[in-house]
Amino acid sequence: MEPIASTPTHCPYCALQCGMNIMPLPQGGVEVTERTDFPVNRGALCGKGRTAAEVLSPAVRLTSPLVRSGGRLVEAGWDEALDRIAERLGSIRREYGADALGVFGGGGLTNEKAYALGKFARVVLGTSQIDYNGRFCMSSAAAAGTKAFGLDRGLPFPLEDIPKTGCVILVGSNPAETMPPSLRYFTELRENGGTLIVVDPRRTRTAEQADLHLAPRPGTDLALALGLLHLVVAEGRTDEEYIRERTTGWEEARAAAMAYWPEYVERITGVSVPRLREAVRLFCAPESAMVLTARGPEQQSKGTDTVGAWINLCLATGRAGRPLSGYGCLTGQGNGQGGREHGQKADQLPGYRKLDDPAARAHVAGVWGVDPDALPGPGRSAYELLDALGTDIRALLLMGSNPVVSAPRAAHIEERIKSLDFLAVCDVVLSETAELADVVLPVTQWAEESGTTTSLEGRVLLRRRAIAPPPGVHSDLHVLHELSARLGVEKGFPADPEEVFTELRRASAGGPADYSGITYRRLAEETGVFWPCPENPGEANHPGTPRLFLDRFAHADGRARFVAVTHRPTAEEPDAEYPLLLTTGRVVAQYQSGAQTRRVTELNAAAPGPFVELHPRLAARIGAAEGDPVTVTSRRGRATAPARITSAIRPDTVFMPFHWPGEGRANTLTNPALDPTSRMPEFKSCAVRVEVVGSR
Ligand code: SF4
Repeated sequence: MEPIASTPTHCPYCALQCGMNIMPLPQGGVEVTERTDFPVNRGALCGKGRTAAEVLSPAVRLTSPLVRSGGRLVEAGWDEALDRIAERLGSIRREYGADALGVFGGGGLTNEKAYALGKFARVVLGTSQIDYNGRFCMSSAAAAGTKAFGLDRGLPFPLEDIPKTGCVILVGSNPAETMPPSLRYFTELRENGGTLIVVDPRRTRTAEQADLHLAPRPGTDLALALGLLHLVVAEGRTDEEYIRERTTGWEEARAAAMAYWPEYVERITGVSVPRLREAVRLFCAPESAMVLTARGPEQQSKGTDTVGAWINLCLATGRAGRPLSGYGCLTGQGNGQGGREHGQKADQLPGYRKLDDPAARAHVAGVWGVDPDALPGPGRSAYELLDALGTDIRALLLMGSNPVVSAPRAAHIEERIKSLDFLAVCDVVLSETAELADVVLPVTQWAEESGTTTSLEGRVLLRRRAIAPPPGVHSDLHVLHELSARLGVEKGFPADPEEVFTELRRASAGGPADYSGITYRRLAEETGVFWPCPENPGEANHPGTPRLFLDRFAHADGRARFVAVTHRPTAEEPDAEYPLLLTTGRVVAQYQSGAQTRRVTELNAAAPGPFVELHPRLAARIGAAEGDPVTVTSRRGRATAPARITSAIRPDTVFMPFHWPGEGRANTLTNPALDPTSRMPEFKSCAVRVEVVGSR
């Protein structure tokens, strides 16, 4: 085992990227210990971070490549596995063309891996068909932020600003379960005299701490935001000078909002008029205020417009691009922010450049040493790509994702994956998707490799290698290095992460997400660097940019854009056959598809399986008692799990967490209706019916 000293690094899981130390143990493996010098979590870790080392154990992870032989996955050598992948990708490309090859990445991949994967797809495979699971995470917020501000960075201000503002509206976000150490920012906000408003159909642990909890029907928070804006106008609370000086499009947005009378909004959302008025009073009274969204408003077939409506509220009240005020998105996955900036998205090139922008193509092609005209154009979005497997797309290379559990309409997607001519998966564990592969490559994890991530604050961080991986395990970058050589591209895919980052810096230079002034050395010496951070040759280092938009927004004229939006129903409203709404989410002890956390003893004991939350009135109506197995049925399939009866949920809504495969897989039920702009599926609401097992 290599270095013996404790190594400061960051958690492998969520976008908070908590600082932690990892200490190699004499008997093998590592221990996670507190790291108090990192300001974001100040030593606090949730159970997932605290137990992260367990997934490093060879007992739960892959340590040998696997290839399918006689219908079974059997151990193989690296050369055999890599040769098999290169041969199949090459032959399928020859037979069907480059766009028959798909690539699917993940928001947990480091910046270096996301960058190399996008480059590999476009330069080595020549395919346009690449996207990643972050499309299912924050794409609506990214689209709305780009429309409004000209630039998307999850939080345009650091978390440390939250306790100092006057009011926060937290929309569809439950940090008490998803990123518990961040809860202290909201606790301190209230201790400082500020107020917290939580918008969530469920009375979550976060909502329990709020000064005001608004519980709209799932899929109606767009109308809620419009109703609040209506009241802001009606009560004369707009900031006219700010609107005049710093925005455009107000008249259209104002006119759209004025149709949403409070009584009308109460009928749509179920939130009473007095509570709407109270929210406006709390939001507008202080000098500064913020709106923060997460998956609730974003994972809708109108997610971009829904986030846009909340941004409009900020702009109309002068609460964006000012100190301690603004709109932000609490990104979910570990590198959810960086993962969308460096080219694994269907429509983007590194540096957050647009793939259909000729100047961006020329710049990146120059860095890559290829002809810009040879670069493919934009490809399909994540769900559309997965839906095309086995038809237009015949082979898939998948890295850092488990769509069999995490994709909407998952049973259908599982069938599409099974219908592929060839599937190669790089993962640390044998996930449910890896089980279907023709070749599985075991790859290194956070403690075994260096690499950068970009947290939800836009803070670029260095994860450091602390221990060697087990024999037989290599990094994703090694995989791309080896595959590119086998496919005839000898140069341009180094396995060394710092070398990749050096090229990424050049590719991002001058782009919206400019990393050119960030180096591994700086990241090792500082507690992260906020982008944009351009290189200043011959001058002092650029300090990075913790706060965006204070002087101007990123549109060419420096102004933010109002976007006139109107409410529309969820893609699948309840009816006689499916009279309830299902909403999905997470629990504190599991992470995303659960591929890693379901293998951790303590986490599995705390959250061993799925459940269905039912309001007591609904439970009484269908005859369900606590713990009874109930079946939830949507137009896409059925899922069965024990009932959990709680008055914390609306009587017209049921909730399931989505971390598990099998008969309790929540995503069997979810609706892939897509947002027209972001191509986000509607995870957050679909029509279902619920029955006690055996009651029919
Ligand atoms: Fe890791 Fe997120 Fe938990 Fe922090 S909150 S320890 S980053 S999973």
